[in-house]
Amino acid sequence: MSVPEIFGSMVFDDQVMRGRLPAKVYNSLKKTIEGDAPLDPGVANAVATAMRDWAVEKGATHFTHWFQPLTGTSAEKHDSFISPAPDGRVIMEFSGKELIQGEPDASSFPSGGLRATFEARGYTAWDPTSYAFIKGKTLCIPTAFCSYGGEALDKKTPLLRSMDAINRQALRVLRLFGRTDVKRVTTSVGPEQEYFLVDEETFKKRPDLIYTGRTLFGAKPPKGQELDDHYFGSIKPRVQAYMDDLNQELWKLGILAKTEHNEVAPAQHELAPIYTTTNIATDHNQLTMEIMRKVATRHGLVCLLHEKPFAGVNGSGKHNNWSMATDSGINLLSPGDTPHENVQFLLFLVAVIRAVDEYQSLLRLSVATAGNDHRLGANEAPPAVISIFLGEELQAILDAIEADAPYAGTEKTRIKLGVDALPRFTRDTTDRNRTSPFAFTGNKFEFRMVGSSNSIACANIMLNASVAAVLEDMADELEKAEDFDSALHDLIRVTIKEHKRIIFNGNGYDDAWIEEATEQRGLLNLKTTPDAMAWLLDKKNMDMLIGQKVFSEAELRSRYEIQLENYCKSVRIEALTMVDMARKQILPAVSGYSAVLASALTGKKALGVACGYETKLVERLSALADVIDEAADDLAGLTDRFDTMEDITEEACFIRDQILPAMDTLRAPCDQAEGCTSSEYWPFPTYGDLLFGVV
Ligand code: ADP
Ligand code: MG
Repeated sequence: MSVPEIFGSMVFDDQVMRGRLPAKVYNSLKKTIEGDAPLDPGVANAVATAMRDWAVEKGATHFTHWFQPLTGTSAEKHDSFISPAPDGRVIMEFSGKELIQGEPDASSFPSGGLRATFEARGYTAWDPTSYAFIKGKTLCIPTAFCSYGGEALDKKTPLLRSMDAINRQALRVLRLFGRTDVKRVTTSVGPEQEYFLVDEETFKKRPDLIYTGRTLFGAKPPKGQELDDHYFGSIKPRVQAYMDDLNQELWKLGILAKTEHNEVAPAQHELAPIYTTTNIATDHNQLTMEIMRKVATRHGLVCLLHEKPFAGVNGSGKHNNWSMATDSGINLLSPGDTPHENVQFLLFLVAVIRAVDEYQSLLRLSVATAGNDHRLGANEAPPAVISIFLGEELQAILDAIEADAPYAGTEKTRIKLGVDALPRFTRDTTDRNRTSPFAFTGNKFEFRMVGSSNSIACANIMLNASVAAVLEDMADELEKAEDFDSALHDLIRVTIKEHKRIIFNGNGYDDAWIEEATEQRGLLNLKTTPDAMAWLLDKKNMDMLIGQKVFSEAELRSRYEIQLENYCKSVRIEALTMVDMARKQILPAVSGYSAVLASALTGKKALGVACGYETKLVERLSALADVIDEAADDLAGLTDRFDTMEDITEEACFIRDQILPAMDTLRAPCDQAEGCTSSEYWPFPTYGDLLFGVV
């Protein structure tokens, strides 16, 4: 196999387009892709024909508008290319109209009240900035999805809008630096994806994994991750075979799968692609997750993307590496070589610092899901408090600027931005601060709170929009200034002063930090999804998102509903699954084993033999069974109340305050019972089986 040959072989990419489209059509489309011109409907037929020919040659029989509704997964409805011909046979057809617009029945996708049920129509619209590709036998056309009234019902639309917003404002700032050559600023993302692999046969015996993607019960195994022997450890042959297969599938789709390694927890792994434009990175990450799951089944494995599949071992996240770059190839978050470049870098740097500080609630809520709530703040993941890590060198520079004081790294007495040479700061290689939720890593920021199953769209929408809003404000101020250099200098200083509370270079897992962050610095600690989501309707946040044209007010209100609805639904399923497993599997097992012990006990008694072990154990298990029974009844009783709730906020708070604690109360005695029930009787595979079962 030659990697360069298979790479992108299933993608209708630039090279294919150049080869297959008439020059005029190609040039027109290229302009649209590069953001220089709207789509010319006149080119659609030619593109559709070329796409169809290419796809049919590759064995495709169907096409679909591929989109990302607010369910968290991707959606597709396949239509075949066939069209009846007069001779009773069929021809393969695909028109420009079919390429540009689709009309899936949208009534079953979440809309948060945006689309009354009688208006079930939703529209998908071709996104030419993300290449079409073939998956299986289907030509997939990346599309945006919106309602009849034009409101976005997906993740791509606001993401594209947020990229436009940051482009607009960053260009204004760059003009002030005299950069007239730059035509476009885009954000890039490289998402590092964590996941677990478990054996399929073992998986199938766990209703909790099947229904909810995470274990709802499970006693701690004798061995967990304490030896640190898995991280970067040698990869088992079966896992390696999976990774090889996965890489090939991803490469065919033009996804730049680059790094693979074992993660900290047993059975946990990571895959990182090379970064690319945010929109494409988002589509690619969505595809990556889908293909990870699919390829796993070929290897008798199941890929778990849940944020916290196992209690007591690390959960999975997605590190969202983010930067801004110009079309001329300059990374705006890369410290430059000249004083001029350096000061430009510092302005963008402090803009991000201010954006993260001002809109911390939006970043936090962008990653808020029932699954991620178990991870954030547990002691392996970033805390729920957002802060920025800069590293020592950069911190010292900002300190010096703020204080107008000499910086030790330079012989200059005082840093006057834009005039004096700033110290050349190198990429801070000392950063292995894994505890920071938002770390500067040399030429990009790494947002580490994103959950492993989340689309990266939401986090990047908020990040782009927040930074755009701050850049807009800064551009407003600088454009008015009479003396640009001194206004710039002041702006950077003031921004550092006003927003330095968000910078924290220490250990984010430390309890003392959480106290300092919340008590002294006034940072938010939004521990759960309902706590975080309330901030989506905060006036300042809404004004900003509407002002940046990323969301309309109706869209924001609908997203508030949908995100809480998703939260409620997933926990509901978990609660019901727990009750079911406790009643139908755990209690019968405990009772069955107790009966065996009891009969052994009677037998021994009759013989006059000592039976202390059996007596003690039967008593213990019986007591536990009573506790389990009661806890299951309590939880079941609480779940009955769901039907009486009409307001989604009320339901989400009820889940947070009552259901989740009741689930913990049920789990504890069940896990204890597991610890003293014969393995022969325990009704499903243990943590040990799951975590160490892939050999
Ligand atoms: P690590 O974080 O493990 O040190 P790297 O820094 O090499 O690894 O990269 C992690 C991820 O960040 C990769 O997906 C990589 O492509 C991405 N990345 C690197 N540079 C940038 C950039 N300028 N913008 C966005 N992502 C980037
Ligand atoms: Mg990293």
